[in-house]
Amino acid sequence: MGYRTRMIPLLLSLGLMSSCSKEVTEQTAEIFAMNTLISMNIWGIDSNEALQQSENYIYSVEDKFSTTRVESDIYTVNQQAGNWVTVAEEVIYVLDYALTMTEETNNCFSPMMFPLVELWGFTQPRQQVPDPAEIKAVLPYIDTALLEIDYENNMVRIEEGAKLDLGGITKGYVGDVLATSLRDSGVTSALISLGGNIYTLGKKPDGSFWNIGIQNPYGAGSVGSVTVYDRAIITSGGYQRYFIQGDETFWHIIDPISGYPAKSGLASVTIISESGIYGDCLSTALFVMGLEDAIAFWRNRQDFDVVFITDEGDIYITPDLREHFTLSKGYQSGELKEILP
Ligand code: AMP
Ligand code: MG
Repeated sequence: MGYRTRMIPLLLSLGLMSSCSKEVTEQTAEIFAMNTLISMNIWGIDSNEALQQSENYIYSVEDKFSTTRVESDIYTVNQQAGNWVTVAEEVIYVLDYALTMTEETNNCFSPMMFPLVELWGFTQPRQQVPDPAEIKAVLPYIDTALLEIDYENNMVRIEEGAKLDLGGITKGYVGDVLATSLRDSGVTSALISLGGNIYTLGKKPDGSFWNIGIQNPYGAGSVGSVTVYDRAIITSGGYQRYFIQGDETFWHIIDPISGYPAKSGLASVTIISESGIYGDCLSTALFVMGLEDAIAFWRNRQDFDVVFITDEGDIYITPDLREHFTLSKGYQSGELKEILP
């Protein structure tokens, strides 16, 4: 890791221009990108131009971060294992962030998960439970020591056998970039949904808070909702991508230590934080940790809020959400509990 010499404190600007026009308008768009449905509702001056820039940016992200798109930066690093590969500066930023979070979450989050994700078939139309020997064989490659970053030259190298996957962090990062750029371009309110990962910019145009539903992991509708503004609301859940084999369900969030889908007793974890990239790493990592360790992690930091839903249907919220979380009428699968600081 000799090249890890410098942090890159930047969020790339989209280069949106402010406008002299005074009219606040609403623009909406729905696009399919990053393997998910993305919707944007934007209010502000020149919001049409801002929306167009946002769409262009989202498409450019795929060309850098996709594990499956041939010639994306990450795809190329994975194909060229053993060699140094030049990547976009924002790929370096996200990788560096991921490395820090790997350390801070005691390896529950890892940017090195692709060998396991591939083995479980989550890049394929069909998934299957791998042979235990195959899982054992790739576990040594789930190790950030096999990733080197040359910060001076924006280059990355992984050792042969290792493969990167930033799928657990990219959407949160993109939410941050979009929000920063939209704000800079005069947008006063925006609701961005990247496959259910929400970013709220400002308050609603009428000045009230946004009311964001939290998906019921066991069925249609939401277990409840949170009122927020200027926050990312990011959920990781076993119900989001999974397959059933025999009578067991296997999902896409994998424990880097065991190599198996993380069965930690949690059905979903929703992080509410100012920073989307932080919330995205944490939603994945805390899902892997399980309730007890995740609560301990929150107690140590207290710089985010969280809604946990357990396999039993109980809902745990952090204390600041007491005034901001409303249980859905008719939700009877479990109890609502407040975590003590
Ligand atoms: P998320 O929906 O943010 O929880 O991210 C899940 C995606 O991140 C999966 O589809 C994998 O591509 C990748 N992933 C799975 N397990 C992990 C993990 N333990 N750490 C980091 N990324 C992971
Ligand atoms: Mg995540």
